[in-house]
Amino acid sequence: MSSTIGARLLEVLYDLYPDLKNRIWSKKIRDPFKLLVITVLSQVTSYRNLMLAVENLEKSIGISPEKLARAPLEDIEQAIRPAGLYRQRARKIKSISRIILEKYKGDLSFIKDLDVEHARKILLSLPGVGEKTADVILLFSFGKEIMPVDTHIRRISRRLGLVDEKSSYGEIRRTLEQIFPPDTLAFAHVALIEFGRRICRARKPLCGSCPLEKFCPKIGVSDQKLDHTSHGEFIHHSSISRR
Ligand code: SF4
Repeated sequence: MSSTIGARLLEVLYDLYPDLKNRIWSKKIRDPFKLLVITVLSQVTSYRNLMLAVENLEKSIGISPEKLARAPLEDIEQAIRPAGLYRQRARKIKSISRIILEKYKGDLSFIKDLDVEHARKILLSLPGVGEKTADVILLFSFGKEIMPVDTHIRRISRRLGLVDEKSSYGEIRRTLEQIFPPDTLAFAHVALIEFGRRICRARKPLCGSCPLEKFCPKIGVSDQKLDHTSHGEFIHHSSISRR
C-alpha cells in the first residue's frame, strides 16, 4: 500500500483539523487504567453523558484499581448511571479492577516496556476488552505505533478502496499502519473519526464537497446514499481538491 496515499490523506486531514494537528499527542501519555474505564463507558454514549459518569466516578469513588475493586458494586452503578447500561458496565469495571489489582498489583505501567503483541495479549485478556479498546490504550497511554480501527475508520478505508469489504480488523489496522508514518497515527486516528462523523458519514456522505472526492473511488457509496442537498456547503481549503 503506497505511503503517497497516506501523505495525501494527512494533507487533507491537517487542512481540515488544524487544532487536532497542533496537539502534541505523543507527549500526552494518559493513565492507562483511567482510559480503560473511559472506553468501557464510552460505547453508545454521548460525550456529555460519558463525562458526567466519569466525573461522578472520580468524585464519589476515585478512578484507580484499588478504589474500584473495593467499592460496593451499587456505588459504582450509581456513579456511572448517566452513561447507561450501568449495571453491566459497573460489573465489568469492578471485575477489570480486581484482576489488575490482584494480577498486576494495580499498576499497568509495565506494559510500556513490552512489545506490541505481548502488550495486546495482556489487555485483550481483561474482561470486555476488545481489539479496538486494547489498541486505543496502546496508542494513547503507551505511545505504541498502532492504529485502532473504529466503525468510522473502517467505513472510510473501504470507501477509499484501501481495504475491501471483507477485510478483518487486523488487516485494516495493518494497512493503515503502513500508509501513515508512525508519529502521525494518533492524529490520523482522531482526525479520521471526526472526518467520518462530519463528512464521510455512514448515511448521506458529503462526497460533493469532500476534499478527497477527486481521488476517492467511493466504493459502496450508491447515488441514493449521497447528500445532494449539501453539495458545496461544506467549506474546505484542501489543495488536493484543486489539483
Ligand atoms: S468522496 Fe465521499 S466516500 Fe470518498 S471520502 Fe469523501 S465523503 Fe467519503
